[in-house]
Amino acid sequence: MTKKWDAIWTNGTIVTCENSYGLQKNGCIAVKNGKIAWMGAMHELQGDPKELASEHHDLLRRCLTPGLIDCHTHVVYAGNRAKDFELRLQGYTYEEIARQGGGIRSTVLATRNASEDELYEQSSKRIRAMIQAGVTTLEIKSGYGLDWQNELKMLRVVKRIEEKFPITIYKTFLGAHAIPPEYEGKNDAYVDVICNQMIPEIARAKLADAVDVFCEKIAFNIAQTERIFQTAKHFGLAIKCHAEQLSHLGGALLAANYQALSVDHLEYVTNEDIEKIAKTKTVAVLLPGAFYFLREKKPPPVDLLKHHQVPIALATDCNPGTSPLTSILLILNMACIQFLLTPEEALLGVTHNAAKALGMDKTHGTLAVGKVADFAIWDIDHPNELSYSIGQNRLHRLVRGGISQEI
Ligand SMILES: [Zn+2]
Repeated sequence: MTKKWDAIWTNGTIVTCENSYGLQKNGCIAVKNGKIAWMGAMHELQGDPKELASEHHDLLRRCLTPGLIDCHTHVVYAGNRAKDFELRLQGYTYEEIARQGGGIRSTVLATRNASEDELYEQSSKRIRAMIQAGVTTLEIKSGYGLDWQNELKMLRVVKRIEEKFPITIYKTFLGAHAIPPEYEGKNDAYVDVICNQMIPEIARAKLADAVDVFCEKIAFNIAQTERIFQTAKHFGLAIKCHAEQLSHLGGALLAANYQALSVDHLEYVTNEDIEKIAKTKTVAVLLPGAFYFLREKKPPPVDLLKHHQVPIALATDCNPGTSPLTSILLILNMACIQFLLTPEEALLGVTHNAAKALGMDKTHGTLAVGKVADFAIWDIDHPNELSYSIGQNRLHRLVRGGISQEI
């Protein structure tokens, strides 16, 4: 006889992450065809779980949250920047390090020189670590190739990760990450290549879901950023923006006016910007890893974002230069300590709001009937332990599309 559900998890604390923790103690959650089919308290369960579902998992009072979402990463790259790190701590300046062959250019060179297999192997180790911290959905940006052939190679590696790992990937084209060495002093000519060749081809071949720009004095100015947004929009791609990280250039408001899914970093965003961004659906993605690693002094205006009810998401920003970390759990703690988010706000930042930052909140990021059954099961009593613990990983199990995974 076919059973009502494919699987059921019982006797745990269900953490829905809708607009708060949404705790359901002694709760159960049932899955059918990869989606959440029923949720409720143990006493509401009508019958023996073994009769109701083909698989029965006793949570033994563990917490079950939505699978975590890392909505901003540059996890595909070759090499590392440990030498830059050491030089910096020996007192060398950014310019001196760049002159010695360091900085983003060294990552571009290493990524260009790596074969597709090498790039996949090196990135896979980081992806594994991310999954082991509870991540079931991951955004990955290109942006270390900076020419057609190598950006394409990065996006192929992303595709391979999507096929090989039990994880949902959101792909972002970040050709506008930095000016490639061969275009130094010819920034507009490189923007021409992005707008006339790269974006149209990426849209045609469906290689990415969104386009991102690093809008900053050391990268792309407002006029160039706007040209790229117009092109992305024309080709039906979503928009994201690295904005106001090191200075205030106006990229965040510009992006929000182009219905960006998210504006990311925001250390230097102004009250005026926030008031206007609050009227759009754009999410603020905060990246405490980069803030920490760069020893920045000016945190993003979290109080203003909260006051104006701009949804706040968090991400690792995993990248070799400014945030070489893979643990979304560490980010929860950093957001609480450095940006004074509450543990509840931090958890919503890697679930519900992170899903919004990827335009996936109709299907992912919370526990509700009809949503994709991506869960993380934790050996903890209360979800505040996820933000509180440092360097402790209490992940017991991951469930993707209703199927329990080896981790
Ligand atoms: Zn970034």
